[in-house]
Amino acid sequence: MSIHRPEPRTGNRAKETLIVGILALQGDVEPHQQALARLGIRPNLVRLPQQVEELDALVIPGGESTTMSVLMRRWELYPVLRHSIAQGMAVLGTCAGAILLANRIEDDRHNVVVEPIGGMDFVAVRNAWGRQVDSFEAPVRLSLPGEEKELEITGVFIRAPRFREIGAGVEVVGRLADGEPVVLRQGRLVAAAFHPELTEAPHLHQLLLRLASGQLD
Ligand code: GLN
Repeated sequence: MSIHRPEPRTGNRAKETLIVGILALQGDVEPHQQALARLGIRPNLVRLPQQVEELDALVIPGGESTTMSVLMRRWELYPVLRHSIAQGMAVLGTCAGAILLANRIEDDRHNVVVEPIGGMDFVAVRNAWGRQVDSFEAPVRLSLPGEEKELEITGVFIRAPRFREIGAGVEVVGRLADGEPVVLRQGRLVAAAFHPELTEAPHLHQLLLRLASGQLD
């Protein structure tokens, strides 16, 4: 596969020059479009391998990881996504998107059911909050790379995954009040168990842009 990138992902790039995409196969694409628009970014809606090749940053939205996985296989997106991640594309995966970034995916009965894109050293356990509490809102404490102060945002959790077996190379960037890890970062990849696009909190989309523009390493 030949992948042409304008520039290696080193050095600082202005936010306005970044090519940002949202994987638009299924799920809550539009709220992510709006969240990025609030930051002055007009994202590409990505469905084809050649559209992935040109990206500096990608959002993988929430939705249904099983369905997304079927569509990614059908459209032959797995190889190009993995290749672009290896080349340094920044990715923000939220909920189902976070699940797909895990190196291993299990369901709540420890069955392996969805093929991950991978790239992050943790196990995503799908639907791990139990039926009664499939959906809830809870405060999330963020300690973002490069920021000294912790801040609190509201996390909207909708049939959210839990993150387990988090590897030593993975940084926990967000936790619930009881310490449960809900935002992880490894290199230029960020996985959030909740839906930051459903609130006005811009921090995780900003983090994606900072990672893509080479402001953080
Ligand atoms: N439970 C869904 C899955 O396993 C994720 C839900 C969501 O993205 N809100 O893919």
